[in-house]
Amino acid sequence: MSSALETLRRDFGGDIIEPGEAEYESASRSVLVSGSPAYVLRPKSVADVQAGVRFASGAGHLLSVRGGGHSFAGFGTNDGGVVIDLSKLANVEITDKERHLVRIGGGATWGQVAAALAPHGLAISSGDTKSVGVGGLTLTGGIGWKVRKYGLALDNVVAAEVVTASGEIVPASAAENPELFWAIRGGGGNFGIVTAFEFAAHPTTDVFHGKIAFPASEAATVLQGWADYLRTAPEELTSIAEFANPFAGGPEAPVEIHVAFDGDDPELASKAIDPIRRLGTVIDDDVALKPYADVLVDGATPPPGIQLVTRSAFANKDSVPEVLQILAEAGASERSPFIAVRSVGGAVSRVPDDATAYAHRRAELMFVTTIAGPKPVVEAARPALEAIWGRLAPHANGAYANFLASATEEDVAAIYRTETYEQLAAVKRQYDPGNLFAGNHNIRPR
Ligand SMILES: Cc1cc2nc3c(=O)[nH]c(=O)nc-3n(C[C@H](O)[C@H](O)[C@H](O)COP(=O)(O)OP(=O)(O)OC[C@H]3O[C@@H](n4cnc5c(N)ncnc54)[C@H](O)[C@@H]3O)c2cc1C
Repeated sequence: MSSALETLRRDFGGDIIEPGEAEYESASRSVLVSGSPAYVLRPKSVADVQAGVRFASGAGHLLSVRGGGHSFAGFGTNDGGVVIDLSKLANVEITDKERHLVRIGGGATWGQVAAALAPHGLAISSGDTKSVGVGGLTLTGGIGWKVRKYGLALDNVVAAEVVTASGEIVPASAAENPELFWAIRGGGGNFGIVTAFEFAAHPTTDVFHGKIAFPASEAATVLQGWADYLRTAPEELTSIAEFANPFAGGPEAPVEIHVAFDGDDPELASKAIDPIRRLGTVIDDDVALKPYADVLVDGATPPPGIQLVTRSAFANKDSVPEVLQILAEAGASERSPFIAVRSVGGAVSRVPDDATAYAHRRAELMFVTTIAGPKPVVEAARPALEAIWGRLAPHANGAYANFLASATEEDVAAIYRTETYEQLAAVKRQYDPGNLFAGNHNIRPR
């Protein structure tokens, strides 16, 4: 046994899972991607995380950090290296009732958070799926059902505890190591393992949530009207448009406008949602009042062999008409990807550009295309996908790291503006000069 491994076995209080063990098969894969790591470490304490980091770095292993394991690029696993799986660090604790401060373990999922906060009438603007991790989603954004009112998940972080590449515990907040605090709000897992986040939660009532569906043939007018309306709609309203769903008829699938109105007053909710109902011929409407925690859905794990190609970009105000026209036309074509368009703006755009490392404050919409299937199906669909993105290129901006299945240099360049990247690279050099944390949209130490 190597001395690094001996030290790990002595210092590590969590689980060490190796090939051949019963748990290995499920522990080796992240939700969307298979892997064959040499060790999966499941820390039970911050000291375990420190021991795991020192082991990976000391033995020169490739390191992947797994929060909820939902990365489309498969960052939560690797072949032959070490995976630090944070799922046992999932405690959710209200630390200050007056200020609604909540300390959340770096491996918690948003379903765990919503369930823990619901009895206290609190919530955090996050994502739409229970099993998605607080870690991955927050470190690069977090566009959820309250995004227009409360901003991105990362806008609600007030402090974090980070185990850096040297194995030290470093606090990050506006008062302590502010450059690290800036970098982890947008720069992903590049700077260390966040073992705990402190969020400022907000009070929540039940919310009006559901979908309003229109025929596929009305896609172009519904989408344009929807985007126009959102500019003046109350910020309590957050909305996602989905169309060309391959499981609901592909190009024939209805255009679904999903809405969440942050409030339980039926009159105010109707006032905010009715303009969407008037955009076309409503063929389904299941908007209803429900607890916020019930709005989040269960995520599905695709069977082995199914690939997901997910790609994203943003549209600013002046490019919205072109982007929506191209997406509507794409959605009507035989080989269309599944398309989702999320409203952002609102509170997201009131945060100054340089306050965090998230670089897309001015966008009105974020859109995502996804193709899924066995490799031959995905390969056959690629040329049509490339053609759509070729048409979008002159109008689309950047990329949203959380909805990207690839991690090329071009992807990283699309995620960050040049000045943001330069600043991140300087922080990276300070906290991870050897680039131990490289299983992400990687910032190279400058
Ligand atoms: C079904 C589904 C629904 C989704 N819905 C939304 C949505 O509504 N809104 C949205 O914005 N995004 C959404 N996403 C995208 C999601 O935010 C990203 O996939 C995100 O990376 C998932 O985080 P994770 O912790 O689950 O993933 P992981 O694969 O565990 O981690 C992703 C990245 O973050 C790093 N990381 C995770 N935790 C930590 C930590 N504690 N410290 C340091 N690094 C860490 C990992 O190393 C990796 O690089 C969705 C994804 C899926 C698959």
